[in-house]
Amino acid sequence: MPSPAFIQVILPLRLEWEPYYALPEGVRVKVGDRVRVLFARKEYVGAVNAVDVKPQTEESRILPILGVEDNLPKVLPEEIRFWKAISDYYLCSVGEVYKAAYPALKLDQEEVEARVKERLEARLARLKEKEEKARRDDTRERYRAEIEAVEALLRGEKPAASTASISLTPTQETAAETARKAFADGKTVLLHGVTGSGKTEIYLQLAGETLAKGRSVLFLVPEIALSRQLEDRIATVFPDVQVFHSGVTAARRAQVAAHVRNTDACIVLGTRSALFLPHHNLGLIIVDEEHDTSYKQDAPAPRYNARESAIMLGVIQKANVILGSATPSLESLYNAETGRFVKVDLKKRFHAGEEAEIRIIDTVAERRKRGMTGSFSRKLLQEIRETLEAGEQVLVLRARRSYAPSVQCTECGEIPKCPHCHVPMSLHRGPDRLVCHYCGHTEPYTGQCPSCKGALQPLGAGTQKVEEELTALFPDRRIARLDGDTPDTEEAALIRQFAEGDIDILVGTQIITKGFDFDGLRLVAVLQADSLVGVQDFRADERAFQLLEQFRGRSGRRGTPGRIVIQTREPEHPVYARLSGGEGDTDLLAERKLFGYPPYTRLVHVTLKDSNEKRLDYLSKELRNTLLARLGEADTPPAVVGPYAPAIDRIAGESIRQIRVSFPRNKALTALKRTLAEAVSDFGRERKYTSHITLDVDPV
Ligand code: ADP
Ligand code: ZN
Repeated sequence: MPSPAFIQVILPLRLEWEPYYALPEGVRVKVGDRVRVLFARKEYVGAVNAVDVKPQTEESRILPILGVEDNLPKVLPEEIRFWKAISDYYLCSVGEVYKAAYPALKLDQEEVEARVKERLEARLARLKEKEEKARRDDTRERYRAEIEAVEALLRGEKPAASTASISLTPTQETAAETARKAFADGKTVLLHGVTGSGKTEIYLQLAGETLAKGRSVLFLVPEIALSRQLEDRIATVFPDVQVFHSGVTAARRAQVAAHVRNTDACIVLGTRSALFLPHHNLGLIIVDEEHDTSYKQDAPAPRYNARESAIMLGVIQKANVILGSATPSLESLYNAETGRFVKVDLKKRFHAGEEAEIRIIDTVAERRKRGMTGSFSRKLLQEIRETLEAGEQVLVLRARRSYAPSVQCTECGEIPKCPHCHVPMSLHRGPDRLVCHYCGHTEPYTGQCPSCKGALQPLGAGTQKVEEELTALFPDRRIARLDGDTPDTEEAALIRQFAEGDIDILVGTQIITKGFDFDGLRLVAVLQADSLVGVQDFRADERAFQLLEQFRGRSGRRGTPGRIVIQTREPEHPVYARLSGGEGDTDLLAERKLFGYPPYTRLVHVTLKDSNEKRLDYLSKELRNTLLARLGEADTPPAVVGPYAPAIDRIAGESIRQIRVSFPRNKALTALKRTLAEAVSDFGRERKYTSHITLDVDPV
């Protein structure tokens, strides 16, 4: 009897190695084939990682595969290479990446086709509406051309390559040319351009060139909401653009994956998970708003950042990579400084408007002068009134959703906390309830203190309260709110209504600062900006600056200069000076260097969670000692800090401890990260504690 052939299979699990399986006689498989196997008595569909291998396990204990899944798509070798790169960098298993890339799903071909049709019909209806509303002939013609392209798609024909053409301004063309040269040198491009400078135009131009060469384009955005606005714009140039994010149905995602697999030159617009499509022949990856922390996946593993991962994918696919932002991350600025990236600047807006004027209002001083009405200073109210009277629109940012971020007993001073987390409960109205923003725990709000039955009083004002105040102050204006409580289904509609001028004042959380493009927006206001800058984190200033600068970019996009009004208790905070054109980035980088923070070091957070706090404290200290012993031998040993309790140290009934490991950025880095991962996994195995520990590389 001939000895069976052995293969290794990637399973959607946290394993440190790929298990071996035997092939029954007569069965042949190739790398990338999908096979059904048993592991620890459970059935999984895995991907073949290697064939004809010599097992390291005793052969008699190796199970045969249960079957080959011929109906499932095969995994491309490039995909497996990408998963390994992610697994190496982010210290997770290849199986965890596989699981993210191929979530188990069933799909029905008919359903798939019906959805595609539905989506195209919706786009057609939108376009027809726009065509009717268009005031200018050339605009109407542009919509007409698009309508024809969509109708062609609905008839099942291939669309023409391009319906609209792009013509860059000389400044934009110079920037594009610098980018092309950098690509030719194999460098990543960082496009640093103020809001409205035409970054999107440049992306589309480069995308067109890539498609014309017969290669594919991946266009990444941080948020679904942004992809909706961009979809229409990209579709005017590339009607066949495929959209991929967690908001589209599983069936639709499978369809996009099939399209990518079967097409040599396609364009995909998507959020971070679009990196895991079966790319091949990829020529260009665009990472728009590259500073955005939504690019980072927090949980589950792989805890990857799409920005760095796009660069890894670019290497594997031999694709050009362009990152763009009005407020680049310090990480990318550092990479530009060291010559790894080529930075291209665009300092002028296309519609020759001035940059938004900044006005800082000191709320402590205003309160003393009795100049505050609720959350608003008299000065800000005056600005709002003038803007509305001029027929223009206002955005109001308040970083906390809820009616009140917390409530307090007027008798005993107690602030009700979530029973599962160490955080105050927020008050939400309609129906009145207390909500924990960390675990979602909800209780009805009775207005009575749980301890002494005294009266509870709302503390501070969240978005809901701000909306209520504005409604009372401006009773005949249309006021709306957009925050985490807005249902996903209404989000797009609200954004559209605001864009079309059907809302006068929009109140919201950070979500409204993202790259939306609103013609009639003139004034943006930030309430309690202190909640943005006052966070105990070395990145807080970078974040606050990016947020405010992005928010500022929302106003006055067409010609007329906009205004940003910031209400704060700390008007002297350096972040506001940076906004007014200080050398913010260089300062921040110098500070990071001085204190040994990223990007000058690489951080890994080792997080431990346990419902048993005593055991947690004991084992986190033990782990710290293990790490010190295992990493301390190195020539340039990383710094190990902790274990410490993070700012919020109990979530959903589990206490949390963290150990922070910061590595010097040198040649030993990769090997040292490996050592850390091994030390943690050995510890987890020996103490039977694996499921309590996670590793987060480059945490945000
Ligand atoms: P960014 O992406 O940098 O914010 P956009 O590409 O969105 O900038 O450009 C801002 C506005 O200017 C958009 O409405 C865009 O259509 C217009 N625009 C920019 N460059 C051009 C160009 N070369 N030709 C026509 N319109 C342009
Ligand atoms: Zn909670």
